[in-house]
Amino acid sequence: MTEHNTRHKVVVIGGGYAGTLAANRLRQRDDVDVTLVNPRPEFVERIRLHQFVARTGEATVDYGTLLGERVRLVVDSAARIDGAARAVRLASGRTLDYDHVIYAVGSTGGVPSVPGAAEFAFDLAELEPARRLRARLEELPLDAPVTVVGGGLTGVETAAELAERGRRVTLVCGRSLAPYLSAGGRRYVAKWLARHGVAVLGNATVSEVRPDAVVLADGGVRASALTIWTAGFG
Ligand SMILES: Cc1cc2nc3c(=O)[nH]c(=O)nc-3n(C[C@H](O)[C@H](O)[C@H](O)COP(=O)(O)OP(=O)(O)OC[C@H]3O[C@@H](n4cnc5c(N)ncnc54)[C@H](O)[C@@H]3O)c2cc1C
Repeated sequence: MTEHNTRHKVVVIGGGYAGTLAANRLRQRDDVDVTLVNPRPEFVERIRLHQFVARTGEATVDYGTLLGERVRLVVDSAARIDGAARAVRLASGRTLDYDHVIYAVGSTGGVPSVPGAAEFAFDLAELEPARRLRARLEELPLDAPVTVVGGGLTGVETAAELAERGRRVTLVCGRSLAPYLSAGGRRYVAKWLARHGVAVLGNATVSEVRPDAVVLADGGVRASALTIWTAGFG
């Protein structure tokens, strides 16, 4: 009988939840060499970024505590997958050969088309913008008006975290508050936000962001020392 002793090279692009789990699963196979490529040397728990911003939690974890021993971590960014050559070209100029590639790069903050949003609003979709937002927040007095744009779960969680820290928060929801929740869930969220002093503007849209204000679609202008954009991912 012929014994096949072929080793498989797997390159996993992106060390978020999906990529890290995939890498750890695959390394359980003796015939697979796994390389994980990620731009940062630490795992980012994106679902904790609003807590990181409010200083109620951390959002990074050392890969050493997460990755199995046989997973090789390369801190770099994939710039191109060359399918013909079966190689991943990295931003540093290095190349990784592969037999199989797993593409797990996640998402980014969407680039808002609303005037002023790209220039004056902050976001927390990734670690680096979350760091900028946290630094800006620390410059502001506690009673400075903060506007969170987007009534989805990221907006609700961000508004809630900041309100619990004593911030003056307005949540501009767009069409409605927490549209992905059940009616009961929405009622619960609305009550909780009201109890913690968050001004919730349901069925309201931001049409312009200024350095110190937001303009609503109905023409209303509201002071906003800091505007946080959570209305959509890219
Ligand atoms: C504030 C906030 C709160 C959230 N709360 C929740 C929640 O409560 N529940 C929930 O289910 N979801 C939540 N989400 C969404 C959740 O974080 C994402 O769905 C999840 O992170 C997706 O996992 P992923 O592994 O696909 O991608 P990611 O976690 O985004 O990981 C992708 C990785 O790939 C890396 N990468 C990107 N490009 C390259 C490249 N070219 N080369 C190499 N690496 C690259 C990135 O840097 C990153 O490390 C939240 C998101 C945010 C921002």
